[in-house]
Amino acid sequence: MAKLNSEANEQAVTTRQWIGLQTDLPRLDCELALCQILGVNRASILAQPERALSLLQLEELDYWTSSLRKDIPFAYLSGEQEFWGLSLNVSPDVLVPRPETELLVESALSLLKRNAQLLDLGTGSGAIALAIASERQDAQVTATDVSAKALQVAKQNAEQLGITVNFQESHWFKNLGGTWQIIVSNPPYIDPDDPHLKHLHAEPQHALIAGEKGLADLREIISEAPAYLNNKGWLLVEHGYDQAEQVRHLLEQRGFQAVTSHKDLANIERISLGQYIYE
Ligand code: GLN
Repeated sequence: MAKLNSEANEQAVTTRQWIGLQTDLPRLDCELALCQILGVNRASILAQPERALSLLQLEELDYWTSSLRKDIPFAYLSGEQEFWGLSLNVSPDVLVPRPETELLVESALSLLKRNAQLLDLGTGSGAIALAIASERQDAQVTATDVSAKALQVAKQNAEQLGITVNFQESHWFKNLGGTWQIIVSNPPYIDPDDPHLKHLHAEPQHALIAGEKGLADLREIISEAPAYLNNKGWLLVEHGYDQAEQVRHLLEQRGFQAVTSHKDLANIERISLGQYIYE
């Protein structure tokens, strides 16, 4: 704060000047923080760069920027994240939905038959299940999570968006009965030794980290899924940037057919899928 005041020479700091001082943060994050604190949209921030910031606003902004520098995700500060065009509430009880996960939604939608059942394992904020259900009112969508707190966030999102999803507390398939045409999951898949983890410390670690170099939960889901799939049903899973080959191998070993991977916008094989045909 002292720095801000002296640089502004005792005069009010404008939004333009304030952005200029945050040299180590992405400009977009700074603009969006200003939107939140000033209660205006980004067009207004861009159109009026000479708007003066009050001391209280500067203090609030300082809290945001120091949090961002400590790798607190922007979405935990604002309490919301957009996914598939839906505005979702998020809290530190759920992973912040990532844009690359939209690939899982897109691929599941292209395989989902009319009036079919779809299961989302480990739904977190509800992002995948709600995105799919928002597109397809004919589908019966079930979403699970092992965390009751995460399910609360997901249920609140469903209510606010007016989307119907059947939520159930379950560790993977443990409390589930029935079969589905499609099962999707974005399970934890980060190797406990991955150095990137230190930047993800604010998010629920059980939603990120898996044993066996990140493959333990993927292996469990792939192994159990056939018992919960209709004949010719599909399993689609998200995985790490370097796990596609191993995940395809797990699917093939378990008897899945038409096994393939899809690339995300960064050209990384990000999801793998397979179809299970009864003998
Ligand atoms: N894609 C996330 C990341 O790398 C991880 C999500 C997950 O583990 N399911 O930050």
